Amino acid sequence: MNFHSTGLNLSRLCNEALDQPIDEAERETMIAAAASKVEELFDILRIDHRNDHNTRDTPQRVAKMYVEEILQGRYTAPPRITEFDNVRSYDQLIVTGPIELRSMCAHHLMPIYGYAYIGILPSAEGKIIGLSKYDRIVDYFASRLQIQEELVKQIGDYIVDMTKPRGLAVRISAVHMCKTQRGVRSSRRSRMVNTYFWGELATSAEHKSEFLQECVTLDRGSAE
Ligand SMILES: [Zn+2]
Repeated sequence: MNFHSTGLNLSRLCNEALDQPIDEAERETMIAAAASKVEELFDILRIDHRNDHNTRDTPQRVAKMYVEEILQGRYTAPPRITEFDNVRSYDQLIVTGPIELRSMCAHHLMPIYGYAYIGILPSAEGKIIGLSKYDRIVDYFASRLQIQEELVKQIGDYIVDMTKPRGLAVRISAVHMCKTQRGVRSSRRSRMVNTYFWGELATSAEHKSEFLQECVTLDRGSAE
């Protein structure tokens, strides 16, 4: 299958969703085409998947894993968000985390794993969403080939668009296996941490430090 010849449904960047989610038939075609390319890769790497019982089904497994798990956030629609009216006009900071984060580095195809923390300053007239939706949103944007700096912004931009809060903060603390398993082979305790702020969380030093303090408190329970 040649995706370029179709001229359709290609997104610009590896960490963006396609313009249209793919349907079941397209997904099956994609998995089959990818599996045959993984077989070819194994042939080039002299991995005898035809006769080696350990790797016989690996090309098919790898293709399915990429399409249905590792990259599923490119091929599916964003999670449905159930919005509730903010009936009590709650307008103080809410912080949720640690949210499990599993992604894949766009530069090396190596896992990125860690935690996300989200701080929301709801607007009294805006909407609030169920807490578990934040986990689903993180997972949706993480299930692509990612760059941590861009992932933080994608998650936050989406929540801002959907719920129009007064302010928002997204923080990710993650291990990049391209740094621990290869290259400099740094300690797996070596993490990358970045935080991005929107609205009043960007402009108020007080709210920023309240958010960061809550992240430290929440992180205590998740230290390895
Ligand atoms: Zn990398």
